[in-house]
Amino acid sequence: MNTKCGFVTVLGVPNAGKSTLMNSLVGTKVSIVSPKVQTTRSVIRGIAMHGDCQIIFLDTPGLFKPNANKRLERAMVDAAWRSEADSDLTLLIVDVSSKKAIGESKDILASPSLQGRKNIILVMNKIDKIRNDTLLAITQDLNDHFDFMATFMISALKEDGTKKLLDHLAARMPEGPYHYPEDQASDLPMRLLAAEITREKLFHRLHDELPYGLTVETEEWEQFDNGSIKISQIIHIAKDSHKGMVVGKGGQNIKKVGEMARVELCELLDVEIHLKLFVKLSEKWADDSSHYEAWGLNPDA
Ligand code: GDP
Ligand code: MG
Repeated sequence: MNTKCGFVTVLGVPNAGKSTLMNSLVGTKVSIVSPKVQTTRSVIRGIAMHGDCQIIFLDTPGLFKPNANKRLERAMVDAAWRSEADSDLTLLIVDVSSKKAIGESKDILASPSLQGRKNIILVMNKIDKIRNDTLLAITQDLNDHFDFMATFMISALKEDGTKKLLDHLAARMPEGPYHYPEDQASDLPMRLLAAEITREKLFHRLHDELPYGLTVETEEWEQFDNGSIKISQIIHIAKDSHKGMVVGKGGQNIKKVGEMARVELCELLDVEIHLKLFVKLSEKWADDSSHYEAWGLNPDA
């Protein structure tokens, strides 16, 4: 029997629902999700098996206008475009419940790298939030802007229409051997995934401005004979004044974050986890290229 295997890039503006969709298609959480923009920092690979077909999804950080002075932002947008250029198919995810997101998606469609391309699929997401007639008008409008290979209407959150999308993609993957073992859901190293989970919990608990000013690094990972794992992580903050917010009154916040992350890691790895979090002031972490390597980003983009 001939197997099929291919790459699908998930593209779109921040908050469109890219990570939610990829997690749903892969069937397990491999990319962190939050209501804040820029949650996904690097290109995360999620691997889905569908009959005799393996689809490797590339969840990207989202396309936005990078602030020219911000190295991390440039590297994130660069990573999204690089993975797009290498994939078999590209999904453009549009949050149809947001006028702003629709406008910005049109800007993406106008970018030079997409002109004349025949392998772009429009995925209208969050259809659970709008009326049918509005949806049809938006579909028409977007299709007037670009010649898509196909159009899908889905709710990634409610997993409505996602199965149909997966069938469609699987039917269009090229023949070839699998790139990954069949039971593997991601190639993200566990240390990095563990750091991402803690970062997600911080995102959920902190105020608007702060999350982009911090990053999490797994410093120590020790597995004992009984299977349990001891993990130490450093939360790098860019400003001393952020310490209080991260730690919280009497250490309440960091304790809660650590507990939520620990529970999720326990479920994921199915072993006992001891998680220790430390906060460290690293004013220049966003300029430190060692962080970029771990995420597969190019510090000089
Ligand atoms: P990304 O930045 O494109 O990766 O977006 P995320 O996957 O992190 O999702 C951003 C927010 O939109 C999260 O709060 C999701 O729960 C929410 N979201 C994603 N898909 C849907 C959907 O189909 N319907 C609704 N109502 N919300 C969604
Ligand atoms: Mg994301």
